[in-house]
Amino acid sequence: MSRRLLEKQIARIREKYPEEEFFDRLFEKVASSYVDFERVQKLKDRSIRLMSQELHDLYRAQEEKQQAFISTILGKIVDGIITCNKAGKIISVNSSAEHIIGKDESEVRDLELSTILADFETYDEFLSHYYLNLAKNENQIEVSISGKAEAQIPCEVSVSQFEMDEVSTIVILRDITERKKVEAIIIEEKEKAEKASRAKAEFLSTMSHEIRTPMNSIIGMTNILIQDDFDEETMNLLNTLKFSSEHLLVLINDILDFNKIEAGKIEFEHIDFNLKELVENINESHKYRANEKGVQIELAIDPMVPNWVVGDPGRLSQILTNLVGNAVKFTTEGSVITRLTPQQKEGSTIDILFEVIDTGIGIAEGKQKLIFESFSQSETYTTRQYGGTGLGLAITKKLIELQNGHLEVTSTPRIGSNFHFSLQFTLSNTPDDALAKPVAGAYATQDELVGLKILLVEDNPINQFVAGKFLSKWKCDVTIAENGHEAWEKVQADEFDIILMDLQMPGKNGFEATREIRNSDKVYKDIPIIALTATAFLEEKNRALKAGMNDFVTKPFNPKELYEKILKNMTHST
Ligand code: ADP
Repeated sequence: MSRRLLEKQIARIREKYPEEEFFDRLFEKVASSYVDFERVQKLKDRSIRLMSQELHDLYRAQEEKQQAFISTILGKIVDGIITCNKAGKIISVNSSAEHIIGKDESEVRDLELSTILADFETYDEFLSHYYLNLAKNENQIEVSISGKAEAQIPCEVSVSQFEMDEVSTIVILRDITERKKVEAIIIEEKEKAEKASRAKAEFLSTMSHEIRTPMNSIIGMTNILIQDDFDEETMNLLNTLKFSSEHLLVLINDILDFNKIEAGKIEFEHIDFNLKELVENINESHKYRANEKGVQIELAIDPMVPNWVVGDPGRLSQILTNLVGNAVKFTTEGSVITRLTPQQKEGSTIDILFEVIDTGIGIAEGKQKLIFESFSQSETYTTRQYGGTGLGLAITKKLIELQNGHLEVTSTPRIGSNFHFSLQFTLSNTPDDALAKPVAGAYATQDELVGLKILLVEDNPINQFVAGKFLSKWKCDVTIAENGHEAWEKVQADEFDIILMDLQMPGKNGFEATREIRNSDKVYKDIPIIALTATAFLEEKNRALKAGMNDFVTKPFNPKELYEKILKNMTHST
């Protein structure tokens, strides 16, 4: 009941009973109680008001603090952060994003996100592109941001989507301008280095090729002279000339090879070859020099080593020639032994251990690693005393490694060295007793090419002379064509039994001339063609075979090899 109503009712009772003191006292009591009550009530109201104000202030302060904290973080983050709503309209951007875009938040708020993306028409197009990349496990994509004044800023972008108030997408941008600049510099430097390396490789290749041409002539002429009967002294001089020029050619080939290996341009053959015969030939070719020094040269082939295997005979010859050559070079007494031991035979493959063991000067332990590096020799006096470039072992090691082997050496100074490696070969189907060369031995009589009509396609007059000299000696009927064009004309005008075709010639080269002959429908289309190549590289050989040639001989040609190759191709074609 309200105080006023109560007082009204009490006043009415007092009018009714004016003499009753009891009521007066009651009235006073009630009045004072009300006063107390109202005071308490006021106090309570005031404290509630105060408390709620305090709570409100506290809440506001807390909220402001939190807001400031988030703003500070967003402001400090180096990545740009953009929030968008469901439709892709920009809600907020942090200061890094403002910096990247080159505009204030107020200028981009409510714009569609795609307006700041250079490569996307719509927000949906951007999202689909992003999720397509996400499916490929790339959670960042590179985009160009249309910055101020047409500038496009490369950025890495990631996207998070969720529902919170009106925000649906957070886009994080990272400016990668500096990284792109560094990348461009690296690419440019890499290209420069590659260009320089290509120029070096081309220079070496051209130089070696240019040097090879006169070398071919020297070796060819020496071969011609050696055929004749001279007195012993002249023969000795000719043999020295032959040895030195062949040695020089090996060095030139080493430089060419090294170049090829460095450029990663080396391929390996997988052909049937007679391993035992190959090793025997290598030993045979070093016999003269070893015996001259009083050094024994021996072979120790385990009977379990198969005669025929499948692999790259050319490269194996190169490896063994280098190791046996070094062994002979660095040994003054005792022996050089080439040992072959089968290791593991698994399925259709066999691992063979090759060891070249000498009793020569040996190599100090500290130098044993160094000698495998290019242009390294174990001692500085080596070049003076023994010659060499220090390239041989570097090439040999690489050739072995490219075939999954490993070249190692064990050596003791003044006792000798053992260079060893193991290579895997595929077992061959050729029976063990098959002859390596069907025409082996034919060279002894040199009368099987008599009357053969040969077209020699060669632009170099000295090479024409050298080849012509041998072909005439074998009583062949030789016609010369100076280039591919002349060859094509002569083939149409006359009948030939075989063509010897140089590859690099001015005008129409050997490949083109061969293709022209093979593509015709005349009788001469199947005429055997032997390529005369300047390099022994497999790529060149493959190119020649692909152009339709039947075989190839490397210049400077070994007369016996040329003779046997002509005979072999004649035998096969008849
Ligand atoms: P080089 O053309 O100088 O022979 P290599 O790469 O073939 O180049 O050999 C590098 C060096 O390794 C040689 O100069 C020599 O010091 C050392 N070397 C190689 N083979 C032997 C060996 N059988 N005995 C002693 N030293 C050797």
